[in-house]
Amino acid sequence: MSCEDTQGLLIGWCRQAVRFVLPVECLACGAALTTDPVPFFCAMCWHTVRPLQQPACVRCDQPFVSPAATAYSPNHHCQDCQSRPPVFERAWTLFPYLPPLQEAICSFKYRGKHTLAKPLARLMISALPQGIDADVIIPVPLHPVRLRAREFNQSLLLADQLSRHLAKPVSATNLIRTAATDPQTTLSRQERLRNLRNAFKIRRPQELVGKRILLVDDVYTTGTTLNECAKTLRHADTGPVYALTLARTIDTALVPDRLLAERAREPLSSIGI
Ligand SMILES: [Zn+2]
Ligand SMILES: [Zn+2]
Repeated sequence: MSCEDTQGLLIGWCRQAVRFVLPVECLACGAALTTDPVPFFCAMCWHTVRPLQQPACVRCDQPFVSPAATAYSPNHHCQDCQSRPPVFERAWTLFPYLPPLQEAICSFKYRGKHTLAKPLARLMISALPQGIDADVIIPVPLHPVRLRAREFNQSLLLADQLSRHLAKPVSATNLIRTAATDPQTTLSRQERLRNLRNAFKIRRPQELVGKRILLVDDVYTTGTTLNECAKTLRHADTGPVYALTLARTIDTALVPDRLLAERAREPLSSIGI
């Protein structure tokens, strides 16, 4: 048994002991947790998390409303990518940002439940696209002020697990955020852009020249943050920049995902998916 397996077993026993003394409820449905493999979520809720639907834009992974969108042009780009081609070569955005994953990411990021890092990374790894490759993995950095407040960078924790899986190094200190921007979640694309202009810098550009970079973040909203990071990296003559996020905010007009959102508490087998 590997050291990691033993550690996992010990953590499992500790969790069960804590639950015995102090019952913990699933953050999504309120059911009492017993031996569920993911902290704070029951297995039933966790199994409702399903990858984003296809077809999607081949550049930014934006799912298309109509399944016919790529019938005659498999390399179809979404309107955003056609009107403003992103600097990154390709983005993969794996799961819809909907409950219960949304609750898991928020608890992980804003409520300090960092024991969710491993299950979230496992989820990310379970849906990795074929042939994903890069020379260096770079997590989207936090500004030091936010890092001090949050005490950890959620993207770094995900990147770290991914690095073990892909056997590629993580560079966590080279790309830095120099501007303390407002939280991005409620801003429009224009406001986000203004906020992020020149917000990133590279400390040791010579280390990244010609390297293929995989940027890692937790949620893709408009892609502005990833695009600004990619712009900063490309200015330093890196090779192509790819982006990977665990989740993506989606337009609820996308019917299958809206159905998932409404019925996220039911196992997918019960709604025929
Ligand atoms: Zn549950
Ligand atoms: Zn696109």
